[in-house]
Amino acid sequence: MSKEVEATSLRDLLCGSVNEDHIGERVSVCGWVAKRREHGEHLAFLDVRDRSGVVQAVVEGSVDARSEYVVRVTGTVTPRPEGTVNDRLSTGAVELSDCQVEILSLAEAPPFQLDDRVEIDEQVRLRYRYLDIRRDRMQSNLRLRARVNAALRRAMDDQGFCEVETPLLWAPTPEGAREFVVPSRLHPGEFYVLPQSPQIAKQLLMVGGLDRYYQIARCLRDEDLRADRQFEFTQMDIEASFVNQDDVIRFVSRAVLDAAEVAIGERPGEIGTMTWAEALDRYGTDKPDLRFAMTLCDLSTVFADSNVKAFGAPTVKALRVSEGASYSRARLDQLTEQAKSLGAKGLAWFRVTSDGLDSPLARFLSVEESAAIATLDGAQVGDLVLVVADEYELACHVLGALRVTIGSPPVGDGPHHYVWVTEFPMFEGVDEDGNLQAAHHPFTMPHAEDLDLIETDPLKVRSQAYDLVLNGWELGSGSVRIHRADIQSRIFRALGISDEEAQNRFGFLLGAFRYGAPPHAGFAFGIDRLVAIFAGEENIREVIAFPKTQSGADLMTGAPKNITERQMRDLHVRFTTKGT
Ligand code: ASP
Repeated sequence: MSKEVEATSLRDLLCGSVNEDHIGERVSVCGWVAKRREHGEHLAFLDVRDRSGVVQAVVEGSVDARSEYVVRVTGTVTPRPEGTVNDRLSTGAVELSDCQVEILSLAEAPPFQLDDRVEIDEQVRLRYRYLDIRRDRMQSNLRLRARVNAALRRAMDDQGFCEVETPLLWAPTPEGAREFVVPSRLHPGEFYVLPQSPQIAKQLLMVGGLDRYYQIARCLRDEDLRADRQFEFTQMDIEASFVNQDDVIRFVSRAVLDAAEVAIGERPGEIGTMTWAEALDRYGTDKPDLRFAMTLCDLSTVFADSNVKAFGAPTVKALRVSEGASYSRARLDQLTEQAKSLGAKGLAWFRVTSDGLDSPLARFLSVEESAAIATLDGAQVGDLVLVVADEYELACHVLGALRVTIGSPPVGDGPHHYVWVTEFPMFEGVDEDGNLQAAHHPFTMPHAEDLDLIETDPLKVRSQAYDLVLNGWELGSGSVRIHRADIQSRIFRALGISDEEAQNRFGFLLGAFRYGAPPHAGFAFGIDRLVAIFAGEENIREVIAFPKTQSGADLMTGAPKNITERQMRDLHVRFTTKGT
């Protein structure tokens, strides 16, 4: 930052920018007292800290500035005496001497040390988040986030997208999560819904002819919280008209790669694409973590007529674990437990040794079966082979999960591997009423070649939906949307949504489509997750200024809180029993 930008009415420079170029100048800096050291009765050293760093001020005479007092120090930039230069500080070659100290604000002793090297309980950090934000970790994470946002905005502007803010007080949206509702004072007994995403709004903007929309949008979902999930989260949300999947992939890739370049100083290579079917088959998941190479292999043909009862299933999938033969029995038991908890009947393991396979099942295998396992995926002595036999998807999922348990480095570690996963199935599973469920959302366009299967074999219908995955995390998803009323009705029917219900829930969108809907497609990806990975953080709370805890509480404000009787009356709401 230039000197002109740093300067304000109270200061000339940021603390961290005072350096040898300023020697001889008399300058003012402002900040917090990070440390104070007395040198005899009449000399004190103050470390003054602001967001840019720390500078040392030498104060003669007495000064009552304690830790975390806010001060304005005016002093002359002077080289430090020989032997006292501190190479670890950007300001370490100089100090401010002959200082005048003005106390701008007093401070009580903080409840924890504002030093990044000290591990502090997260509950305490969240309760005093404003103090936590004074620490380097939060400073640098929040600034990184701002740089990422700026890069994303630039990329979208450059590509002709128009930023539009859509309402927070809104009607239900179709993402399928539980929603937060807001009672209406003016309409007794009626509620707004906080948007799970701007999905419908952005599609309406396409009908409105806006052509290319984006928003750094807050989305709200009342779902259980985890390391990568908060009630409110931020998405880069986009929608464009007269485009197909490839166009959207191009727009989003450009934005994400620009952001990555800004964040980590290096532009990742072009992002590859993999179909959902391939991801499942090779990695056992739709979120493949490509930072490590292990892939699932298929042994179904080898075991088609096996005498081993455990392998009598439609699919036999196997995974080679390099150097896994040294795993202890306890570790193998743990992996078996994990496999079972995911629905597998069991997990077969084979150590590849110089004397052949070592496993409780080894003696039941035919020669061909043994050979197939011993050479699986280039297996060598010292490797381990894990085998799951079951229905196809289950076998893939179980081994995919074991693959991650065994191979995956922490999410922020190592290189960044992006991949587009395409051709998701249109439907996935059924709800409590036996109705098919949309894998993405009900406005997703089926694959053109699969339209005829909607009524006859819906689970085979592929959709024009795509996800962006980074290091095994789903960064975001999107799809080509249905813009034709006839296809939309067929999808609603397949989902068991009656015309009346469709009209009730999405009538305003369907109505708008009657007035000329352009073909359109879009995408949204989570900025919290992206920044967390760039920052090397495991938990998105570390890149959010004021996050909620795992139980949805804000420890600083105490929210959620009671409201007054008066407010309740105004909103026409009444408690039955507290807490129910
Ligand atoms: N609205 C979708 C979501 O929030 C993204 C999209 O389809 O554009 O996941």
